[in-house]
Amino acid sequence: DRIVAGTLKKEDIDNEVTLRPKWIDEYIGQDKVKEKLKIFIQAARERKEPLDHVLLFGPPGLGKTTLANIIANEMGVNIRITSGPAIERPGDLASILTNLGEDDVLFIDEIHRINRTVEEILYPAMEDFALDIIIGKGPSARSVRLDLSKFTLIGATTRAGLLTSPLRDRFGVMLNLDLYDIYNLQKIVTRSAAILDIEIEDQGALEIAKRSRGTPRIANRLLKRVRDYAQVVENGIITWEVARKGLEILEIDDLGLDSVDRKIILTMIENFNGGPVGVDTLSAATGEERNTIEDVYEPYLLQIGFINRTPRGRVVTKKAYDHFEIPFIEE
Ligand code: ADP
Repeated sequence: DRIVAGTLKKEDIDNEVTLRPKWIDEYIGQDKVKEKLKIFIQAARERKEPLDHVLLFGPPGLGKTTLANIIANEMGVNIRITSGPAIERPGDLASILTNLGEDDVLFIDEIHRINRTVEEILYPAMEDFALDIIIGKGPSARSVRLDLSKFTLIGATTRAGLLTSPLRDRFGVMLNLDLYDIYNLQKIVTRSAAILDIEIEDQGALEIAKRSRGTPRIANRLLKRVRDYAQVVENGIITWEVARKGLEILEIDDLGLDSVDRKIILTMIENFNGGPVGVDTLSAATGEERNTIEDVYEPYLLQIGFINRTPRGRVVTKKAYDHFEIPFIEE
């Protein structure tokens, strides 16, 4: 139960609804993504066509669901939200597809977890806006093609490489969301504080931003926790000092690292002399799943320059040795 996990927790749910930006200009950061999207949206609107299918990929909590909602708003269409694991049978997907209105958005979160038989329904749906259904059984079975309304599929996943290539190839637009820098996170914290009526100083917002692992969802969660601290122990205003103290109580260090990050880095240093270590070896040595290491821990450790990727595996940098106060011996 990590407070700095990017994945959705129960305590986030209220936040997510009130804090979610609704329009593209309210969406902070991700400038390259926004620039591309604005052009695609305008072009599609001018042609009075649905937007091309969009694949959004990046670690949890970076704003993929938010962007899908924004796209639907900007296009002036309805959005239907589901997830890969929630669509169990082909019939489930067929019923979702036949109920979509003209040009609507269908958002499938964790689309890499969709099963094979369901995935095959998606191919003609994405390509020809058609549904192939088999009627009858045995030798008399025949396939009938049903027309669907035109729609935009927006898929979200942590890494594009998790999708099969036939599915990936059917997306016209691929957008990669990166971890946010601390200044954009500071803006997000400031915006959220205003919406939630929390008094916060710039340095307080920056301190929360620094410990949010590049992830808006974590920033909003930490803001809420620090607010509680400010209210109960201090006078309610989040200054730099109040933020620091509140975050210390939560045992988040000044880079937002938690015990799993520490375990990963210390394992690499103590058992592998700082690397290079392959991700499978690291997974076995730490007991953390390979995918979780790659999708959740590594992006942030790379962003803050604690590890580097080399062709022979991951290596710990001097910066990480310094942070953990372990002498770094150059070879
Ligand atoms: P994902 O789908 O990638 O897991 P979400 O879209 O659910 O992430 O985003 C998590 C929360 O973070 C949202 O509720 C929203 O309040 C906030 N958020 C994400 N991206 C931004 C952004 N660019 N600007 C402001 N808030 C954001």
